[in-house]
Amino acid sequence: MPTILLAEDEAAIAQSVLFALRAEGWQAEHVLLGGQVLPRLRQGGVDVLILDVGLPDISGFEVCRALRAESQVPVIFLTARDGELDRVLGLELGGDDYVAKPFSPRELVARVRARLRRSTPPQAQPEGWRVHGRFAIDEAGHRIRFDQCMLELTRYEYGLLAALLARPGAVLSRAQLMDRVWQDAPESGDRTVDTHVKTLRAKLRDAGADFEVIKTHRGLGYALDSGERS
Ligand code: CA
Repeated sequence: MPTILLAEDEAAIAQSVLFALRAEGWQAEHVLLGGQVLPRLRQGGVDVLILDVGLPDISGFEVCRALRAESQVPVIFLTARDGELDRVLGLELGGDDYVAKPFSPRELVARVRARLRRSTPPQAQPEGWRVHGRFAIDEAGHRIRFDQCMLELTRYEYGLLAALLARPGAVLSRAQLMDRVWQDAPESGDRTVDTHVKTLRAKLRDAGADFEVIKTHRGLGYALDSGERS
């Protein structure tokens, strides 16, 4: 959950801003003085700083200049429309954006969201994940995702889905699947594969699969559609 720090001394403004930030599901913290900003940033975990320029002790400009020596946190200035705004626009203060008072909380929220998006690195495929269409498998971790949803699989469900994922589109017979997945469970019966296919299909539907992922080929076996569209 992103954490937004607001430095603002006017109670009415602070209240409406905090309300709007929390309505987004973000964590919002509030300080009244410029001198409280840096100590809070040093504790870590702040994703965006909203900084009023007209603070009672130190101006927001001075706060920003000081914090830039040690922090890259995105800063959005809250400015009055008079000379403050001219300074924001005209000087290299190290801020990233500004909102001039009076402003709508919605406008400010949009600016914060833009900052959050920019500072969140694009989701890299972590080491160990192999992608097949809409699936990703981490064999070392025995994990499979569909789209971005981690599937909660039993050991045999994982084995079955992994075996099918190894050759998307290929039809694997029940005997082949039994060999690969249940080699250590000789007591398993004929219905074992079918039963697990059924529970897998239900879990995939729950994960948002809107097509037939595991196709039945009557008399032959099963094949997997990874959802890849060319
Ligand atoms: Ca103020």
